[in-house]
Amino acid sequence: MRYLIILMCGFILVITGCSGFGSTEKESLPVEDEIHIEVEKVEEVGEREELDNAIDKGVSSTEEAIEEVEETLQPKYKLNPANFLIQPLQEAVEKKVVLFTIDDAPDQYGAEMAQILYDLDVNAIFFVNGIFINKGSGKEQLKKIHELGFEIGNHTISHKNLSKLSAEEQKREIVELNDQIEEIIGERPRFFRAPFGVNTDVSKQVVKEEGMQWMNWTYGYDYFKEYTNREALVDIMVNAPELIDGANLLMHDRKWTLEALEDIVTGLRDKGFKIVDPKEIK
Ligand SMILES: [Zn+2]
Repeated sequence: MRYLIILMCGFILVITGCSGFGSTEKESLPVEDEIHIEVEKVEEVGEREELDNAIDKGVSSTEEAIEEVEETLQPKYKLNPANFLIQPLQEAVEKKVVLFTIDDAPDQYGAEMAQILYDLDVNAIFFVNGIFINKGSGKEQLKKIHELGFEIGNHTISHKNLSKLSAEEQKREIVELNDQIEEIIGERPRFFRAPFGVNTDVSKQVVKEEGMQWMNWTYGYDYFKEYTNREALVDIMVNAPELIDGANLLMHDRKWTLEALEDIVTGLRDKGFKIVDPKEIK
């Protein structure tokens, strides 16, 4: 909604500019140029693509462009809290989708994995840990992953089993990481994933208070020894018995996963699955 308001404000400027009430330097610009100026503004909040698409589709007026963008930014999916599947909000929405999630990031390969996915026009959630963003190139990697447009999720500060921590420690593991992430990228995560998928009553409450949704996953294999090589991992990720509509795929910041990533994307697309943009999840 924030993006839409920015866009609307932008377009109101355009409209008034064209009717002679705007600033003089804007008056002489054709609408198309004005739209491109708006695109530059929108780019700052990471929504350039949607507006570009609207323009590319040949919309003839700013009103149509607004409608087009509004439609693109509407959430289309929800997370089923019972099984972590991604499900359409309406009948007409494509249901043959999968969600990509990358956990334990950004360790060694996070930014590189983000670049590979970006080049393949795939979005994903990167679930990050404080221990990683506070060492080596962690902060720069996090910034880059965010700037490429990926959703940043909370995977706790130190990746401990939450059921073994006090209520206060659990809260710190979650809230302090949100603070740190906000300091680096300017926004707080919307999604939380507990280490080892172990959620507690306390963690669920904290996640709720932070306005986040928690999720586990439906399948992942890159942490089992026999799948720690490219070939085996690609094969199982694309042919897993758990591959169904809305599957929530767990992967990690690991060398073999980095190497397998492109073939996993291609394999799933060949099977007709669309990889869902987390921004479309309510
Ligand atoms: Zn993890």
